Amino acid sequence: MTRPAKSPQTLKWQALSRDHHLAPFSDYKQLQENGPRIITKAEGVYLWDSEGHKILDGMAGLWCVAVGYGREELVEAAANQMRELPFYNTFFQTAHPPVLELAEAIADIAPEGMNHVFFTGSGSEGNDTMLRLVRHYWALKGKPQKKVIIGRINGYHGSTVAGASLGGMKAMHEQGDLPIPGIVHIPQPYWFGEGGDMSPDEFGVWAAEQLEKKILEVGEDKVAAFIAEPVQGAGGVIVPPDSYWPKIREILDKYEILFVADEVICGFGRTGEWFGSDYYGNTPDLMTIAKGLTSGYVPMGGLIVSDEVFDVVNAGGDFNHGFTYSGHPVAAAVGLANLRILREEKILETVKAKTAPYLQKRLRELADHPLVGEVRGLGMLGAIELVKDKQTRARFPSELSAGMVCRGHCFANGLVMRAVGDTMIIAPPLVISEAEIDELVSKARECLDLTARDILG
Ligand SMILES: *Cc1c(COP(=O)(O)O)cnc(C)c1O
Repeated sequence: MTRPAKSPQTLKWQALSRDHHLAPFSDYKQLQENGPRIITKAEGVYLWDSEGHKILDGMAGLWCVAVGYGREELVEAAANQMRELPFYNTFFQTAHPPVLELAEAIADIAPEGMNHVFFTGSGSEGNDTMLRLVRHYWALKGKPQKKVIIGRINGYHGSTVAGASLGGMKAMHEQGDLPIPGIVHIPQPYWFGEGGDMSPDEFGVWAAEQLEKKILEVGEDKVAAFIAEPVQGAGGVIVPPDSYWPKIREILDKYEILFVADEVICGFGRTGEWFGSDYYGNTPDLMTIAKGLTSGYVPMGGLIVSDEVFDVVNAGGDFNHGFTYSGHPVAAAVGLANLRILREEKILETVKAKTAPYLQKRLRELADHPLVGEVRGLGMLGAIELVKDKQTRARFPSELSAGMVCRGHCFANGLVMRAVGDTMIIAPPLVISEAEIDELVSKARECLDLTARDILG
C-alpha cells in the first residue's frame, strides 16, 4: 500500500513518538518505521486523525466509550467536581460524596446480593485487588491454604503482574516469568478454533469439565477462586457454546470456591444487560469492573463484592490494600454521570431491543464472504473469523497475516476493526445507530474484499 504524504504537523508528532514515547502493546520496530496514527478528536462514534480522516470507531476506543464521544454531561461532571474537590483519598476512615454515591449506584444495578464496591484506577488493579481480597477472605475463614486461582488460557484480565498472570495470554506470559505461582489455567471454550470434530455443545461441556478436572488436580482445599470473562474480549470475542455456563455453574455449586466474573468488557450494557453475568444468569461472588464504568472519559475500575464475601472481610479488621486513586472524586463523578446517561437515555433497552439485534443480523450477512468462516457475537460484540477453508475451518498460513492485512485496510478505509490473529473483532459504542451499523458493515465488507484480493491474489 502506498501512503499519501503526511502533513508537517503529523510528521512532528510522529518524531516525538519515535524519540520519546514507549507505547503499550506495540511492535516497537514497526512503530519506529511507520509512526503512529495520531488521533486528534472524536464525536459520537467517529474519530478524526491528524490528517483529517474520519474513522468509524468499531472498538469504542478500547471497549470503553459506551455512551460515545463528545458527551458534554461528562465534561461538566468532571469540571464541576474538579472545582469542588479535585482530589481527596479514601484511606484511613475518610470518604467524599461522589465515591459513596457511585458505590450505591453500582450496587443498585449489580446482581442481587452484590452491594459492596472497592474502587481502583483500572481493570488490572481490580483484578490485583481481587487476588489479594480472595486470599484474605479464605485466610479469615481459617483456610489460608486456599490460594490457587484458576483462570483460562487466552483469557484477558489486564497487564499488571497479577492481571497478566490471571489471564492466559501466551505472549504476555513469555515475558517476565509469568504467571506467578498460585495461578493455573484451563482451556478456553473456543469452539471455532479448538472444537475439532465435536459439536459446539459437546465442546462446551468438555471445556467446562476441564474446570472440575483442574479443581481435583490442584485439590479443592487449595483452590480459592475461578476467574472468567462472560464473553472473552481481547481473546477474540469468544462466545462460549450454550452448554458452557450451565455446566460451569453446576461444577462451581459442587465445590467450595469463589466465582469471579471479569466484567470489564461485558459490564455496563455491552450485552444489553447491565452485566454479562445477568445475560447468562450466572451468580458470581465478585465482579471486576472498569472501561464502560466511566465510558473511558477518565480512568476508573473496581471490584464488586457479594454480601457473603463482604461479611467475612468486614469482620476481619484492616485490609492492607489500596491505591492513591481508589475512588478518585473526578472519576467517581464522571462514573455517576455516565450511569445516569445509560439509565435516562434507556441505552441498554435500545441496545437489547433494537440495535444489538440489528448489528448481529447485519454482521452475519458477512458469513457469505469467501474469506469468512464464522460470524458470531451478542449484544454490541462481534467477531469475524478469516479462514482459508470455510468447511474445515483451516487458517491461512500465519506469514500471510490475514488479520493484520484486513485491519490495515479497515484503518485506511475509515473503520477501526481490531485483529486478534485472524479473528476480526468489533465492539462499537453502545449508542451506535442503525445507519452507522450499516456503514460499519458495508465498510467491513469492502475491507474483506480488499483483503481477499491481497491474499488470494
Ligand atoms: C481491559 C481489560 C482488563 C484490564 O483493564 P485495564 O483498565 O486495562 O487495566 C481486565 N479485564 C478485561 C476483561 C479487560 O478487557
